Amino acid sequence: MKAIMYHYVREASPEIPNFIHLDYSDFQKQIDFLSKEYHILTQEEFYNCLRTGNTIDKGIILTFDDGLADHYNYVYPYLKSKGLWGVFFISTLPFISKKLLDVHRTHYLLGRYDASMLVDYIKSIITKDDLIDGTDIKFTSTTYTNQYSDESIKDFKRIVNYQLNPIKKTTVLDKVVKHFLDRPEEDLAKAYYLSEKNISEMQANGMEIGCHAHSHNLLSNLEDSSLLDELSIANSYLKKLLNVGELNGFCFPYGGKQSYDQRVLDILSHQNYTYGFSVDSRDIDRTDIINNKFELPRYDCNEFPHGQATFNFKG
Ligand SMILES: [Zn+2]
Repeated sequence: MKAIMYHYVREASPEIPNFIHLDYSDFQKQIDFLSKEYHILTQEEFYNCLRTGNTIDKGIILTFDDGLADHYNYVYPYLKSKGLWGVFFISTLPFISKKLLDVHRTHYLLGRYDASMLVDYIKSIITKDDLIDGTDIKFTSTTYTNQYSDESIKDFKRIVNYQLNPIKKTTVLDKVVKHFLDRPEEDLAKAYYLSEKNISEMQANGMEIGCHAHSHNLLSNLEDSSLLDELSIANSYLKKLLNVGELNGFCFPYGGKQSYDQRVLDILSHQNYTYGFSVDSRDIDRTDIINNKFELPRYDCNEFPHGQATFNFKG
């Protein structure tokens, strides 16, 4: 039995020509392929597996991360039209901040703007205090010769993901977004994420909603009290929104082994989740369900036919 993870599923847009996503036409092809070659589980079948530990041969569980509007605009209507079931994992901070999560700010900025300009700008505004001790970036403005070069994309990601002090990241990205964006970030966030109304509709039509933490930070990096906040705020918010006493599913932001630790598993257990998903390219077997129900492995959709991400806007 396999679980498959999806993120962006949409059609290319001229506004963000370099935005990396799974094209909707490929998503449809992949779902059709999976329906033909495998068996996409119903909610009832999935819970039966969790209860008994008996996995379904050739079974597939579809999962969608990050609470993206794509999932209402493209995924949900397609699944509904085919009578299929999926699980959608939501991070709750955007409902409160009315901004993009930092992880999505990076995707959007790189999808829309010349990476060399982003690097030049971010270097011009950060000070030594914004960086993790010991990291070294040159504070001189670099002029890249190749627009959209892989080098400048890597530079921008390296600065944001590895060199900025996690505590300063949001403040620095606030400035970058403000400098480049031509409309209020609130408008962008509204178009980027599922609304509460979308989520309620999807839930009412049989889709499952799970928790993807509050601000999509790397959980293993957080101190005890921030970690508890990160998981408790999201848990309470979603329970209220979904009008349920307890949530069933959780999935770790980023998801690999390094992205969570025993403290996280203990909190999930304390909050009475039924299951959790990680990211690990292998099948779910009986042992996972019996012994590690919070760490069920998932494949990325790009490991199956038609699942490769694209980014070129072809007009
Ligand atoms: Zn995520």
